[in-house]
Amino acid sequence: MTTLFYIARKSGALRNGNERGSFRYHAVPISDDAPLCGQRPAISWRTEEGAAVTCPACLKALQGIEGASFVSGTPESVAF
Ligand SMILES: [Zn+2]
Repeated sequence: MTTLFYIARKSGALRNGNERGSFRYHAVPISDDAPLCGQRPAISWRTEEGAAVTCPACLKALQGIEGASFVSGTPESVAF
């Protein structure tokens, strides 16, 4: 069984002016808006080209999921 995920960060600008390296990227199942770590965004998710999962809790959870794979694009742009 394949489970599809988005790699996404929470939307909104960082107040301290740091660059994108400061964002934490989560693994979000396409069928849900809750990431594997359970930390839902206050506003929405944003996906970015070339992003990789950096959230330690999401990475740990991914290790226990067989057939995990990733899609790019926003949830709205993926049709099933
Ligand atoms: Zn996470």
